Amino acid sequence: YGTEASLQKEDLTTEGNSFKGHDMLAPFTAGWQSNDLDPLVIEKSEGSYVYDINGKKYLDTLAGLWCTSLGGNEPRLVAAATEQLNKLPFYHSFWNRTTKPSLDLAKELLETFTASKMAKAFFTNSGSEANDTQVKLVWYYNNALGRPNKKKFIARAKSYHGSTLIAASLSGLPALHQKFDLPAPFVRHTDCPHYWRYHLPGETEEEFSTRLAINLENLILKEGPETIAAFIAEPVMGAGGVIPPPATYFDKIQAVVKKYDILFIADEVICAFGRLGTMYGSDKFNIKPDLVTVAKALSSGYLPIGAVMVSPEVSDVIDSQSSKLGSFSHGFTYSGHPVACAVAIETLKIYKERNILDQVNRIAPKFQDGVKAFSDSPIIGEIRGTGLILGTEFVDNKSPNDPFPPEWGVGAYFGAQCEKEGMLVRVAGDNIMMSPPFIMSPEEVDELISKYGKALKATEERVKELKSQ
Ligand code: PMP
Repeated sequence: YGTEASLQKEDLTTEGNSFKGHDMLAPFTAGWQSNDLDPLVIEKSEGSYVYDINGKKYLDTLAGLWCTSLGGNEPRLVAAATEQLNKLPFYHSFWNRTTKPSLDLAKELLETFTASKMAKAFFTNSGSEANDTQVKLVWYYNNALGRPNKKKFIARAKSYHGSTLIAASLSGLPALHQKFDLPAPFVRHTDCPHYWRYHLPGETEEEFSTRLAINLENLILKEGPETIAAFIAEPVMGAGGVIPPPATYFDKIQAVVKKYDILFIADEVICAFGRLGTMYGSDKFNIKPDLVTVAKALSSGYLPIGAVMVSPEVSDVIDSQSSKLGSFSHGFTYSGHPVACAVAIETLKIYKERNILDQVNRIAPKFQDGVKAFSDSPIIGEIRGTGLILGTEFVDNKSPNDPFPPEWGVGAYFGAQCEKEGMLVRVAGDNIMMSPPFIMSPEEVDELISKYGKALKATEERVKELKSQ
């Protein structure tokens, strides 16, 4: 997060426009960037491509922000929104009043999750709100069970769970905490499961996973198991650098969590609906969560919507205690917004009709193998991922212990080269992330690989130059 500041301005701007110094306090953007540089202003999208206001075309390898699974101009989603807007643009879901699209979506959504049984869905506008909701649900549940001290959450270093106060607290990225007086006091962080970066000499993936499970258990014992309410994890970590779990990791972690009566929350905001080649990340890694968070591809990003799915155990406790505790006094004006729900229902229908998992699994090997073929580059430490998600980490000497000087801005330079080539990637320090739309064609994957290769070559040259100075 943020070494872009070290780059030359000319490396960061491609086509100019007149929007520098605009009036928006821009998310995850440095003030100097907004003030001194023209922002990239996107005007139109089409399939796997977006166009800026100068008409320049970019292959959008991040699917917007890991979300536009069905690409940029799916007419059925536009039609679903239009139809619902004409019929009922808004009604809420408070006080046992609601709308048909929100009822239908709850039913459809619950049917998509089969890794463990889910009984109820709660709608939000975003992944962050959904993870905040998770915390309140878990607290309500433990209060209902008469366990007022079982309130702490364990998340992992480098995780990303959102940017509201509580979701940012759960996240394990220092930039989200610094200057914001976070994390909140009830959050603890355990190890990041990144084998390449953190394994001990000679340690196998399985041994690494065992060590992390022991560390988790020791943390629980130190805090007191009676104080730990829940553990939250992304099946594949996303914004922290695309980090798939090492072998046997989730088996071992789940055993520990279960042993101490701690709820497991799967944050599937990026992984859900097919990104990993399975409907959910939980399917891929045999995770049996008590609670699930989704957002992003639920509506293919066309309208803001997130959701929490709740197991029968949690839902039953909340229901059965309602006479004592009163209503579940939590919700948003737009919880179950009928237009967002109508778009989400249509999105899920399209996934089913088009066998979206087959589509993902058809292009994923080409994407994975094509990009991973660059792993030998002297400036790349690791290229990692599965399905339609990939991370590239730039380091010196191929070693996780030899980062490039941050002021070299190696990742940002690569990102700027991609932009010049007509391709958008996600840059976070010297980590590059890609999560293309599910509908990307094999030809577009070829284009992605070719542009990645050109940007990499230019970045290798740049590093050579910097080293010789
Ligand atoms: N969880 C994960 C795993 C995410 O990747 C994100 C967003 N990138 C969020 C939660 C937060 O979602 P939102 O930005 O919709 O609040």
